[in-house]
Amino acid sequence: MTQLFGKPLVTQEAMRSRIKELGKEITHDYQSQDLVMVGVLKGAFAFYADLVRAIRLPVTVDFMIVKSQPNQRKLSGKVKVVTDLTEEVKGRDILLVEDIVDSGLTVQYLTKLLSKRKPRSLRICTLLSKPARRQIDVNVEYIGFEIPNHYVVGYGLDYQQQYRNLPYLAVLDPKGMDAE
Ligand code: 5GP
Repeated sequence: MTQLFGKPLVTQEAMRSRIKELGKEITHDYQSQDLVMVGVLKGAFAFYADLVRAIRLPVTVDFMIVKSQPNQRKLSGKVKVVTDLTEEVKGRDILLVEDIVDSGLTVQYLTKLLSKRKPRSLRICTLLSKPARRQIDVNVEYIGFEIPNHYVVGYGLDYQQQYRNLPYLAVLDPKGMDAE
């Protein structure tokens, strides 16, 4: 495997401790609610698995597999839902779990889609956020890390379907980082 990245942008240790904090916060906020955690695959799989185990509450797990559609995306933010939820979410408390919020188009699209199913509440939790890239003003309640505008891989995030198993987060092309 060609080494396309440098030192971690977020280490495993930093990831572990931040996810523990998020788990505590979510545990506090969702007492006596009917929590359905919706993982957005593939990118969120590693974060989701760690986060769900940091939450000390009854929780229903479910997933959506989505693919972005580059041609339509710029205009509408439309993503293709390849695999939909298996659970009924009407009247329940959805926590949408994303890997990264970049422009905000994907979470906006998914939020609209899930709202139509009449959940009691719908919030967003993301491991990463790139505020400098935001095109849509989306309300993200739980953010693991705000990161600068670089293309990152690892911890579930890919480049051409590779590097998802990297146990930390890295910038794909560290030279690009120096250039800014
Ligand atoms: P959006 O622009 O709709 O907020 O983000 C769409 C998707 O783009 C994310 O869910 C993620 O799959 C991908 N994405 C955005 N920034 C990065 C990045 O830095 N690295 C990787 N691997 N994917 C990214």
